[in-house]
Amino acid sequence: MKPGQKFLEKIPPVCRQIARVVEEWGGSAYLVGGLVRDLLLKPAQFDITAPDWDIAVDLRATGQGLLSLLKKINAQTNCRYVFYNQFLTGTLLFGDLRVDIAHTRDESYPAPAVLPLVRPAGIEQDLRRRDFTINALALTLTGKGKGEVVDPTGGQQDLQLRLVRIIHPNSFIDDPTRIFRCIRFAIRLGFEIESGTLYLLRAAVKNGYPARLTPERILYELRCICRERAALKMLEAVVKEGVLASCWQQVPGAEFFGFPVKRLLAELQKLVQAKVDSGLLFVYLLSRLPVNTRFPITREEREAQQILRESKVIVSRLRRVRKKSAIYRQLVGIPVPALQVLKILTTGVVRQRLRLYLEKLVSVQPQLQAADLISAGIKPGPELGRMLERLRAARLDGQVKTTAQEWALVQRIRGKNV
Ligand code: ATP
Repeated sequence: MKPGQKFLEKIPPVCRQIARVVEEWGGSAYLVGGLVRDLLLKPAQFDITAPDWDIAVDLRATGQGLLSLLKKINAQTNCRYVFYNQFLTGTLLFGDLRVDIAHTRDESYPAPAVLPLVRPAGIEQDLRRRDFTINALALTLTGKGKGEVVDPTGGQQDLQLRLVRIIHPNSFIDDPTRIFRCIRFAIRLGFEIESGTLYLLRAAVKNGYPARLTPERILYELRCICRERAALKMLEAVVKEGVLASCWQQVPGAEFFGFPVKRLLAELQKLVQAKVDSGLLFVYLLSRLPVNTRFPITREEREAQQILRESKVIVSRLRRVRKKSAIYRQLVGIPVPALQVLKILTTGVVRQRLRLYLEKLVSVQPQLQAADLISAGIKPGPELGRMLERLRAARLDGQVKTTAQEWALVQRIRGKNV
């Protein structure tokens, strides 16, 4: 039996269905990408329930296009699909299962670091345009070769040698995101970077190719790293190899945009040890990077990044305030992710106050609501807002504990104001 035959019986039915349609038409279909790498690396541990599947199809001999394939599968299964004509790719969505289908293609790079031009080609060419030999493996799903591995670049041997190796010498120049990917895969899999590959990676960094990437692509790579279990090691490597500095045309040194690199790494370590989620790690990283408005991040991320950059002010104010209502006033409105990061990076009384705010104070509300106060004759507007804030402060400081005490406070304040 061929190596992948047994495995093929277990792949999601829809993948088999795609293969069947393509085979009926006289084309070829392959499982490609990281799934094949992971399957060949650790067959026993392979996660057959993986949510994302990558399939490459060669329809050149069929007279059919990728869109017809997507439509046919849609008609048979009622799944959702998206088609990207320009890229010769499509996605099928079946609940939580996502199958990306691409026509096998050849690529050419009109200039370094720009997106490639694509044209239909066979599976071997398709695999040769990929990033690393270990990612250039395909499992045949159709025809006589069903269950066979297509391996034109020696990927299976590199899996055994535990090496990440690029496929051609211009690889990092064509697409500098591969510099990030190389570090990410080597660390995730516990592989070495092959010596020639490492040499070319370092040369591409030294020659400033990462700076040619668009902000979107740099941030995408950093988000991917932050999601990894070994994110800290990867970020350390990205910093030590000067990749981050190179993205901003800087020469790597003891400081990164005025911030000591040692402290950057120590803070990242603290955050990882505190098991923060990938979003918080990313927000922290943003705060240490010269990310301007050209960088596509969410409003919350931008605000959090800003706060973290100016955290000295918050920290020194928090040191001075004691009353709970004063702590609340200092922190209300600041995005929670920024405060969660700050809580981990600070110590002593500042940390205690941040924790108190995040765990308790942030959710304290007076019992009386705007509608209660309006029905008691307070006009909607600034006076109402102030009254609600006074009530909340009194609650926070333990001056009122019941609704009756809140009403009494309202009367006292109104009495004074008359
Ligand atoms: P993961 O396990 O993180 O999903 P993956 O190998 O599946 O890893 P993807 O980013 O999903 O990685 O990409 C799928 C495949 O597409 C890769 O295995 C690789 O063959 C190819 N690929 C992705 N990015 C690039 C790139 N920048 N250059 C060349 N090939 C790439």
